[in-house]
Amino acid sequence: MRNLENHVLGSWRAPSGRLADLTDPTTGAVIARCGTEGIDMKAVAAYGRDVGGPALRAMTFAQRGAMLEACWKAVHAIREELIELAVRNSGNTRKDAKFDIDGAIATLSAYAVWGNELGDTQVMLDGEGLQLGRTPRFWGQHVLVPREGVAVHVNAFNFPAWGLAEKAACALLAGVPCIEKPATATAVVAERLLRACTDAGALPPGAVQLLCGSVGDLLDHLGPQDCLAFTGSADTALKLRGKENLLRWSVRVNVEADSLNAAVLGPDVAPGSETWNLFVRDVATDVTQKAGQKCTAIRRILVPADRVADAEAALVERISSVVIGDPSNDEVRMGPLATAAQRDDIRAGIAKLATECDFVMGAAGEPDALVGCEKGKGCFQRPVLFRAKDTAAAKLVHEHEVFGPCATILPYDGSAASAGAIVAKGKGGLVASVFSDDREFVRAMVVAIAPWNGRLYLGSGKMADQSLGPGTVLPGSVHGGPGRAGGGEELGKFRGLSLYQQRTALQGDRAVIEKLFAR
Ligand code: NAP
Repeated sequence: MRNLENHVLGSWRAPSGRLADLTDPTTGAVIARCGTEGIDMKAVAAYGRDVGGPALRAMTFAQRGAMLEACWKAVHAIREELIELAVRNSGNTRKDAKFDIDGAIATLSAYAVWGNELGDTQVMLDGEGLQLGRTPRFWGQHVLVPREGVAVHVNAFNFPAWGLAEKAACALLAGVPCIEKPATATAVVAERLLRACTDAGALPPGAVQLLCGSVGDLLDHLGPQDCLAFTGSADTALKLRGKENLLRWSVRVNVEADSLNAAVLGPDVAPGSETWNLFVRDVATDVTQKAGQKCTAIRRILVPADRVADAEAALVERISSVVIGDPSNDEVRMGPLATAAQRDDIRAGIAKLATECDFVMGAAGEPDALVGCEKGKGCFQRPVLFRAKDTAAAKLVHEHEVFGPCATILPYDGSAASAGAIVAKGKGGLVASVFSDDREFVRAMVVAIAPWNGRLYLGSGKMADQSLGPGTVLPGSVHGGPGRAGGGEELGKFRGLSLYQQRTALQGDRAVIEKLFAR
């Protein structure tokens, strides 16, 4: 048992006051404690702004890229240890843990390379310059500069490594210091990850601070140059967005929240074809990977009515073959949910969906067999596949996210118009997938559902062997979605920096403007 330390005001500090218990969800044993009582949050924000900010802004993009390179190397050096910690604290199988930790390393390393690409400059040009006056002498150019505030990053429990790294990579490359707040329940991995970076001397003082526990009154101390990037539930997001000082000072708030991600099987896809197999693999992966605790996991599966029986048989076969139990056991492919509270929430959600859906497989409750661990002790939930009793009448399946190993088949008539209307009922998603080799169907689906989703994954026979699945967030593509998904946007190469930058329009003599930031 150890107490996680907070990294604030230039040093690692032991927690004091009331501490929260962090458990191993496989056994229920308490493995660590953490807390933030007594920390002067106003001073933490000021330290980021006054110490971290100037240090980062003095660096060029290439130097910030080198800083991120030092970070990913430091994290990579303790990769095995992080995997072990994720197995214990998050209930991840080794494969699930690698998904989070390698995702963190890959994102830091992508932004390190992109920093190098931007080179020895400190200001980014936004688009081409343009003539504003009668002649080209009066010229306009938009520039992007780092804001002089601090970025508060509040993360969800399911990706303690990647969640921290993807936000920090963008803020740091933009030149903005951050205060990282991992979810309390799974903070062990985040604490170790940041400690690796500080031990390696990769970060200037104040560039990244870490709070393992509540943020206390930190958000009340945010001002006009600061921002908040939040990942978590829509309910928490609603509370945070409405804070008076955030509204008063136009503090930028980016939200990544719930999402009822849809997968649409095209009517052209025959059982047994490559695209069919990709569909079955991707859906089954999303139901079971990280025990379904992925914000990008497929929750709604639209299948042409005449293919439902085949799709159910294929999915049941594939999902049933997943061995569930102690995530440290090599045979096991699905571990427990992260906490007892999540397990209880998920079971309540399954009961809710059961009012308008039939069970194709599973039920609320533990799996019949658990490999390598005792029944009744951990936070296990068996995978559930539902079929909507009546697709046209179904409501809850478009509204209630069961954040676990659970998804629902929605039979539809095979037309893009119907599929588009059903997907839109989710009121905004992070990602939707279309599995089809029919270009006209894909085109119609893109036009219909792109406005409702931050990312579209177009599964086909041609890309099947390179695909990482719709659940994988890649640093080169944006992550975020409209409406229910929070309305936010992260990553997407340089797009991910914009939350931390001020876009300013310069208007003046073309010769001066073009020379100011010439490379
Ligand atoms: P959550 O309960 O909303 O918590 C998210 C984070 O907010 C945690 O760090 C939590 O800290 C913090 N928090 C809670 N109340 C707060 C408050 N009043 N002030 C400041 N911070 C507060 O969500 P979760 O259960 O961790 O995550 C599950 C949800 O996140 C799911 O709905 C999932 O869809 C969503 N999610 C979305 C994405 C995405 O990218 N869109 C990614 C992952 C997860 P404590 O842990 O200390 O309470």
